[in-house]
Amino acid sequence: PSRSDITYFGAGPAALPTDVLEAASKALLDYNGTGLGIAEHSHRSELATNIINEAKADLANYLGFSPEQYEVIFMQAGGTGEFAASVYNLVGAWVSRQHAALKKELGDDEEAILAALRKKVETELKVDYIVTGGWSLKAYQEAQRLLGPEYVNLVADARTINGGKFGKIPDESTWKLSKDAAYVYFCDNETVDGVEFPSFPSILTPDANGNGPIVVADMSSNILSRRIPVNNHSLIFFGAQKNLGSTGVTVAILKKNFLPPHTVQPSPPLLRKLGLPIPPIVLQYEIIAKNNSLYNTLSIFDVYVAGQVLKKLLSTYPDKVDGQQAVAEKKASLIYGALEAHPEVYRIVPDKAVRSKMNICFRVTKNGDTDETEKAFLKAATALGLTGLKGHRSVGGIRASNYNSIPLEGAEKLAKVIDDFAKSS
Ligand code: PLP
Repeated sequence: PSRSDITYFGAGPAALPTDVLEAASKALLDYNGTGLGIAEHSHRSELATNIINEAKADLANYLGFSPEQYEVIFMQAGGTGEFAASVYNLVGAWVSRQHAALKKELGDDEEAILAALRKKVETELKVDYIVTGGWSLKAYQEAQRLLGPEYVNLVADARTINGGKFGKIPDESTWKLSKDAAYVYFCDNETVDGVEFPSFPSILTPDANGNGPIVVADMSSNILSRRIPVNNHSLIFFGAQKNLGSTGVTVAILKKNFLPPHTVQPSPPLLRKLGLPIPPIVLQYEIIAKNNSLYNTLSIFDVYVAGQVLKKLLSTYPDKVDGQQAVAEKKASLIYGALEAHPEVYRIVPDKAVRSKMNICFRVTKNGDTDETEKAFLKAATALGLTGLKGHRSVGGIRASNYNSIPLEGAEKLAKVIDDFAKSS
């Protein structure tokens, strides 16, 4: 088949807009008449810096956050690397705050400060995780692995209210938040389980004076698809490979309070004395930010693709992310609507209140047989050019990833296949 015959519903790497790829393929051979391709130019060149700076500005413009308050950092760690980076950097920031407070209290007595700091680490250091699916579970486990389980608090585990499976979000009144956690972590959209927070958790919302918990969100699979209250977060991270661009670049949006001069990460000797992990330098936001994401070799090609996607979004939607959100909601409701019309055949996996608009997970059963029916469904869809619909290997079933690059007609085609398949014998 040719590209125009296919609507690809894969969960990531996801499809990219064809015109972006056409521009990128030209840029790979010759970037802007320089006689050298974009992947060949030095990351130290002025054009590389321009690509980075434009992508940063366009991201802030599209999502509506202030570049004065938030730094955008391009990294190569993947979402998985950010599970670790969030631990290192925000625990480091916690240590740095405690150290400054103790210095005020105890003056220059370094030994007394260290003893008091050790005690604080032992008795007060906590990081909080809300586990609502496979990815927040992995992040929680990474924090346990790096810090030691005694420092990691499980605020809520969605499986406990749903027969051991993901698919719901526990009521906030049951969440067990720590007092003054170094941060509270959640995954806004669980790609494998199809669970998305309907809105920012109210229990984590800052008060009228702007005081609230330090919040970290993984938005790998729903960034750029909906308006988010960036100001409620200290850190938002996402891999590019779903809504932003090609695989190979990861973005962190970090509140500048967590960077120098406001926060200086503790030195390795201090961390060693406290028994806390020392971050690899490529995961230190402070270092990457200071070098405008060019501490080491960055794939400028991937940043370029992300930048082109942002430019396309900005030119398509005059009201920026709100415009894209309206389209995402329309596409999701078409697909969910088609599934709901045939409850005897389709079972939508997550609870209605927390259904993801990006990853639509469902099971298909006819005559009491799910496995064979799902195979037949995939076959019917593939025959019409709708591909990438197989669920994640850990949960099975069908998953339609309804990312930004899926056009409205793609969602219409899928809705039609869902309807036709249910009616066929
Ligand atoms: N977080 C979420 C929500 C994801 O969907 C994924 C990957 O699909 C990850 C994290 C892990 O990302 P990576 O494979 O880039 O490490």
